[in-house]
Amino acid sequence: KHLNLQDIRSEFLSFFESKNHLVLDSFSLIPKGDKSLLLIGAGMAPMKKYFTKELTPPSSRVTTCQKCIRTGDIENVGKTDRHATFFEMLGNFSFGDYFKKEAISWAWEFLTTRLEIEPEKLWVTVFLDDDEAHDIWRDEIGIAEERIVRLGKDDNFWELEVGPSGPCSEIYVDRGEAYGCGDPDCKPGCDCDRFIEVWNLVFTQFDKDESGVYHPLSHPNIDTGMGLERIATVLQGTDNIFEVDALQNIIQALAKKAGIHYGDDPKFDESIRVITDHIRAMTFMISDSIRPSNEGRGYVLRRLIRRAAKHGKNLGLSGSFLYELTDEVIKSWGAHYQDLTANRDAIVDTIRREEEKFAETIDKGNELLMRKIEELKAAGKDTLDGADAFKLYDTYGFPVDLTEDILKDAGFKCDIEGFNAHMEAQKNRARAARDTDEMGWNTEESEHVFDGLTNTFVGYDQTEADSRIM
Ligand code: ATP
Ligand code: MG
Ligand code: MG
Ligand code: MG
Repeated sequence: KHLNLQDIRSEFLSFFESKNHLVLDSFSLIPKGDKSLLLIGAGMAPMKKYFTKELTPPSSRVTTCQKCIRTGDIENVGKTDRHATFFEMLGNFSFGDYFKKEAISWAWEFLTTRLEIEPEKLWVTVFLDDDEAHDIWRDEIGIAEERIVRLGKDDNFWELEVGPSGPCSEIYVDRGEAYGCGDPDCKPGCDCDRFIEVWNLVFTQFDKDESGVYHPLSHPNIDTGMGLERIATVLQGTDNIFEVDALQNIIQALAKKAGIHYGDDPKFDESIRVITDHIRAMTFMISDSIRPSNEGRGYVLRRLIRRAAKHGKNLGLSGSFLYELTDEVIKSWGAHYQDLTANRDAIVDTIRREEEKFAETIDKGNELLMRKIEELKAAGKDTLDGADAFKLYDTYGFPVDLTEDILKDAGFKCDIEGFNAHMEAQKNRARAARDTDEMGWNTEESEHVFDGLTNTFVGYDQTEADSRIM
């Protein structure tokens, strides 16, 4: 069934409403009262305290469409078919109410009846020894044994340091060999994009204590998450999540601006997808009152804006362009997320100012590099120091291959080993800082949240350009 993002969102919420769930609005991207998290990255994240029983939920059955940001996936954006930094997660939650049987059969009913996905295209995974889930899928739903894959703890078990934890069962859609890695044994769990994971059902049935012992909960919980863009990809038959309806509009608006035809050149296409992703992320972040800065959430936002601006350069776009594209996001998502419309001016203004500041920084970096090249010439040297290359990267946001390219054009080389040594030292400093932090409930996210982020711009405060930037 061909449904657009908006239709899928309301189908989902009304389906679970019909199963007596209370429909709640998306929570903000900024976690409330949870210092362990930088940004909300899953539907259950803002409801953590309902699971731990620190707070009483407004209903024992809740359903949401939650705005999510996963900076840990940033390197995959534009490359895989299925990863965005910003996405919407549809979820149904049971706080000590229903359990596996209902969660599984409703998920199946929704996918095959409401969305009319052919049952033969669906595969599922269960945790190694979760026979209960396995048997429900096989005996009650009727999925063939070959399409039920047992996966280990890395993939199919969800846990915190302590507290609610339990096995997962994930639902995949087989998109066909054309999307596969070529391995004849390829199946869910493979990292390629043939089997696209659309829905994760988490059965939090244990309470894990400090010594690592799992105590069964008398009233276990259900936490599920389905990526809206991923299920849209399946229903609309697009190659990746960025080519679905309203996201495709951003792609087209951007391509037009750059005078490029999307689909002609893979290198341009990847940049177009990255910008499409980042523009949506920054629009939603600013609407949730995050502003560019040099730390925390503001730093994530700054990085996204600058990363998008850099990809714009790959497309030959000069000057500021992101701030104009944000209207494309507001136009499509503003009907459901009305804050976007109300905050439009602040969003446009924030992006435009940050783009201008970044352009200034790039100019400064260029100046510095030109000066260094003159110095190398004067000294009769042919290689730029690793330390200088690192400064260009760290302070001025120059990727090292850009530095290398510019040097090469001028007939010089770059000390890559020296650069890498500085990078490594920087990473170790970031890691040390991170390890002293109290670990959050979402270990994977909090571990990766700084990847590719803390290792840049750390020296920003020391630059003279900074007084203007802040
Ligand atoms: P994957 O293995 O594909 O990276 P995941 O197992 O990390 O996905 P979950 O943490 O289980 O994802 O999140 C629940 C659902 O949210 C996923 O099944 C998927 O549909 C969606 N999802 C997760 N990460 C992303 C992302 N970066 N972009 C878009 N959708 C996502
Ligand atoms: Mg993932
Ligand atoms: Mg997964
Ligand atoms: Mg998953």
